[in-house]
Amino acid sequence: MNGAIIGGTGFYDAGDLLRTESVETPFGTVDVEIIRHGDSELGFLNRHGKGHSVPPHKVNYKANLKALEMLGIRHVLAGTAVGSCNPDFQNGDLILLTDLIDNTRGRSLTYFDGGESGVKHFDMSDPYCRNLRKRMSETAKDQPPGFKGEGVYCCSEGPRFETAAEVRMIRQWGGDVVGMTNVPEAQLAKELGLCYAAVSVVVNMATGMEQGAVDLEYGDGLIKASMQRLRKLLKDSLMAPLDQDHCGCSNALIPL
Ligand SMILES: [Zn+2]
Repeated sequence: MNGAIIGGTGFYDAGDLLRTESVETPFGTVDVEIIRHGDSELGFLNRHGKGHSVPPHKVNYKANLKALEMLGIRHVLAGTAVGSCNPDFQNGDLILLTDLIDNTRGRSLTYFDGGESGVKHFDMSDPYCRNLRKRMSETAKDQPPGFKGEGVYCCSEGPRFETAAEVRMIRQWGGDVVGMTNVPEAQLAKELGLCYAAVSVVVNMATGMEQGAVDLEYGDGLIKASMQRLRKLLKDSLMAPLDQDHCGCSNALIPL
């Protein structure tokens, strides 16, 4: 398999289902759908489960990523629905993530919790694999309007939305979009040595932000259309095989 896709809110189906693999990990069992795309097979799972039944702070991130690794997958692309803290990013826009800020609390953040698992530290200079980002940028050029821009993702604890004061704080920190799931997903991928990258779809303006002019011809279908664009972009980006020779993802462990 060339890789796998993790879907978020509004992205529950990747199409062309071949079979479902039930993977038993040390953290729980995960059903991974195997789909066909062109001549390749890809893995797919939705982090919130069927019917959006798992809230962001209770997603079994460790099991999800471990299951993909156990299937031999080395490249993972994720979709996330976000609020925008950047007036240039409006409803329906696709944003290529370049960096992240962790504003969660109380989540289990690492596979290496001391004891038998030991203590390990990982480099996060590239939270989102630079090789996968390059591949997605190239793929997006043939799929206008492509990305609206690149952005920094701030992960809130949720499930409540942010207050207006929190959104002002996130903007001062340099955050462009705010969601509830990329921590610990991105860092657990790094701990497993996987290449991981993510694209956000703006589904609302964050609290206190003004809505700009949205193309009303899309009407209520705007977000749905963007999710379909996201789905095609992620699948097409994994159409050709990738290696791990042009990024540091498989070698992010800091020697002690
Ligand atoms: Zn990588």
